[in-house]
Amino acid sequence: MIIMKKDATPEQIKYVVSEIKKHGLRADISRGEFRTVIGLVGDESKISFAHLATLPGVKDARMVETPYKLISREYSELFEGKDESRIVKVGDIEIGGDEPVFIAGPCAIESKTQLFRIAEEVKRAGAHILRGGIFKPRSSVHSFQGLGALGIEEAREALSWLHEAGQRFGMPVITEVRGEFQVDLIAEYVDILQIGARNMYDQDLLSRVGNKGKPVLFKRHFGASIEEFLSFSEYIVAEGNKDIILCERGIVPVGKGNSYTRYTLDLTSVPVVQRETYLPIIVDPSHAAGRRDLIFDMSCAAIAIGASGLVIEVHYNPTEALVDAQQMITPNELKEIINTCKKISKMVTPYKKRGRVT
Ligand code: PEP
Ligand code: MN
Repeated sequence: MIIMKKDATPEQIKYVVSEIKKHGLRADISRGEFRTVIGLVGDESKISFAHLATLPGVKDARMVETPYKLISREYSELFEGKDESRIVKVGDIEIGGDEPVFIAGPCAIESKTQLFRIAEEVKRAGAHILRGGIFKPRSSVHSFQGLGALGIEEAREALSWLHEAGQRFGMPVITEVRGEFQVDLIAEYVDILQIGARNMYDQDLLSRVGNKGKPVLFKRHFGASIEEFLSFSEYIVAEGNKDIILCERGIVPVGKGNSYTRYTLDLTSVPVVQRETYLPIIVDPSHAAGRRDLIFDMSCAAIAIGASGLVIEVHYNPTEALVDAQQMITPNELKEIINTCKKISKMVTPYKKRGRVT
């Protein structure tokens, strides 16, 4: 990490960047209100920090050994000079501000009629962003894999419905990207690219997605520690994209016997992530609980702990859904959750930053 002097000139910054590049590393330049900070992306052992510290305009050059740094509060405080969280903007919607954001829609898009009906009803319930899976990660090859699995034409058609539904009902749209070959295609149609839990560790996919310059919803793998979760999100930031929305969706339950939920919703990750990074974090109670009767409770808990929003699976007739029917709620239930969570959020907002002071 190179901290430039307050009065460093553009030429001096350019020279430092060229030195970094000469050693096979990349530079992340953050121009703050107070000073410019240059983060190094790559193997830092290839470069001499003593040498960097002597370059004109450099105030300090430090090696940072943590597995993530560009997303850390420490880094942003260096160039911003203050403890600010990032707000990810998607159209008129702000994720990470004072108001919680609700992402809702079906697990999988099954038909144009199904998607449009759900889109209309979740909008009416108060949702801000529309979700819908087209390439579904499934445990069995014999189950419905999403319309995208039928072929490129079917994938394009489903993507165009999602885009059209977003336009019609005034909501940005999001869908999951499961492979590198899907990135360009999906980015043509959606506002946010989703990395699902199973792909959290796919570095090449993360770099490709980071490169598109669109906001990314990044879900925690169900076996990942918080440190791994944050470290892998840095692959997206290393491409110059800091518009990342982190998403807690539960981890594998421990112990023998029935856990009664699909995953264990690790809500401690919300305040921990908020202390570690400036990125917003939201919660997916649907995949975590895997039970519709728990979605209300877990949604309230997530907002009470300070999450910046929720992702919830919704269907007008939950039992009819081809994927994840057991966790789907109705638009009316969503409305009740949104209204309640907005009240909870108002109550907890003044306390949100309380614990973050170091
Ligand atoms: C999803 O959001 O559609 C999904 C499959 O969730 P996860 O990746 O968290 O399992
Ligand atoms: Mn699902």
